[in-house]
Amino acid sequence: MRFHVLTIFPHLLESPLQEGIIRRALQAGRIEVELTDIRDFATDKHAMTDDRPFGGGEGMVMKPEPLAAAIRQARLAHAQSHVVLLSPQGRQYTQAVAEEFSLLADLVLVCGRYEGVDERVRQHFVDEEISIGDYILTGGELAAMVIIDSVTRLLPGVLGCEGSVAQDTFSRGGIKYPQYTRPRDFEGYEVPEVLLSGDHTKIAEWRFAAGVSLTWEKRPDLLAAMTFSRKELQVLKKHGVLLEAKGKA
Ligand code: SAM
Repeated sequence: MRFHVLTIFPHLLESPLQEGIIRRALQAGRIEVELTDIRDFATDKHAMTDDRPFGGGEGMVMKPEPLAAAIRQARLAHAQSHVVLLSPQGRQYTQAVAEEFSLLADLVLVCGRYEGVDERVRQHFVDEEISIGDYILTGGELAAMVIIDSVTRLLPGVLGCEGSVAQDTFSRGGIKYPQYTRPRDFEGYEVPEVLLSGDHTKIAEWRFAAGVSLTWEKRPDLLAAMTFSRKELQVLKKHGVLLEAKGKA
């Protein structure tokens, strides 16, 4: 998969691309990341990418010409590109959107700065706006990196253990079961006995029930959208996770 980031601060993304799983994915050729400096598309002699807002007011607005030219060039290079404008006003980014993006061949991520981009860019040059949350960043670069990171780990062959993606929080709609590692006894706090039993069926059932229980505790909003088979409901009951009491089942 190819990511193409349009930004006035391309160096901001260099360091996070050079570590861990993302670096390995780049080295293995599972992903390509192209960083394009929007300033290279500025038309005036000072390479201006922003200007004062019409109508007055605070701050600067990103000019449409360099942005549109950079987007056009990105689309020319890859006809199938999906062009996303990072914006706090966009569709909320979730694991489901990450999964959707992971099926694309080419994703162009347009990073705003200052007060944002000229509205005509949003209206006529991008496919959609994406927000990574209800808060305001100084620019779209960290949001672009969040998308690159979360999409890359979903691509085949990127994580050593493919199964772990399917077990992640959100993949079934709820929260992942709690995990423990050595030592068995840490300052008097013990690991749940079942995890030491070696009985894989019992462990899987315990983990499933613990995940649902945690979802109820931490994110009841997620539980409302989850569905369970008859067998799963029996497992939950066996472990004392009584969905009836929670308005489910
Ligand atoms: N004035 C704009 C508004 O009120 O909607 C906010 C502009 S923000 C300071 C500058 C840039 O940061 C935006 O154009 C966008 O690219 C990026 N940005 C800020 N918050 C974001 C968020 N929650 N998700 C994605 N991008 C964001």
